Amino acid sequence: MISDMHVHTRWSSDSKVPVEMQIQRGIELGMKQICITDHQDYDAPVFPPDFFTFLLDDKGDDDTITAYLTDLACLRERYADKIEVLFGIELGIQPHLTEKLNQVAARFPFDYIIGSTHTFQKMDAEDARHYEGIDIETAVRRYFEDELVNVRGFRSFDAAGHMDFVLRYGPGAAETFTYAKYGDIIDEILKELIQSGRGIECNTSKFKAKNMINPNRSIIKRYCELGGEIITFGSDAHVSERLGEGFREAGEIVKECGLKYYAVFRNHKPDFYKI
Ligand SMILES: [Zn+2]
Ligand SMILES: [Zn+2]
Repeated sequence: MISDMHVHTRWSSDSKVPVEMQIQRGIELGMKQICITDHQDYDAPVFPPDFFTFLLDDKGDDDTITAYLTDLACLRERYADKIEVLFGIELGIQPHLTEKLNQVAARFPFDYIIGSTHTFQKMDAEDARHYEGIDIETAVRRYFEDELVNVRGFRSFDAAGHMDFVLRYGPGAAETFTYAKYGDIIDEILKELIQSGRGIECNTSKFKAKNMINPNRSIIKRYCELGGEIITFGSDAHVSERLGEGFREAGEIVKECGLKYYAVFRNHKPDFYKI
């Protein structure tokens, strides 16, 4: 099965699953690699009703990042003959954080960094205040505007996570989405990623519930048309039952968009495998 490059564990404030359980599930599914990518969102707005910190082990300081990597190193060793455990992290980007994130990326030996825009205009994408009193197109555009600033400022991540995240939460956003509506700005994001050798992710966490992949297939197709070649697959599983969910179907969609290989990152360098 396609390797899962977006996996959460108990190091994330919104998951309880031991790292080892995710690894064992990856082995059961026949994955050759699994990349653990727990949440680290500095300055995340506290958004009810969750109240999650979205910081590693609810602390997120440098010592905690070191402890996290030490845990992963130990498990890499233990499972070396069964699966390759890769060191990842999902960093939440906001325009005012880009310099700090570049420093964090440089300081720690990650294999793979997902750059995710969960928040725009300092509010969680799920926060209803984004969508009150304005048309959905304006709200969605604001999301992509922040994301463009994010990808230009934080240049050290390897792939953009679920890059149309706003379509999950904006009322009617997914139903009314067409590439043409936002093509001017999404083109800029994609060109920035391609020129700097960065990839996109095919995130399947809403595949079962909403028959949706993120980003929308038209964005993947455009990435490919513009010359992009790097795509990873991520289930974003916060429980082991959901590891690799939807990968078979999503693999077919990605191939239809024109990409025949998926990427696995080691020390920030992609290797390619047939989908
Ligand atoms: Zn995310
Ligand atoms: Zn995630």
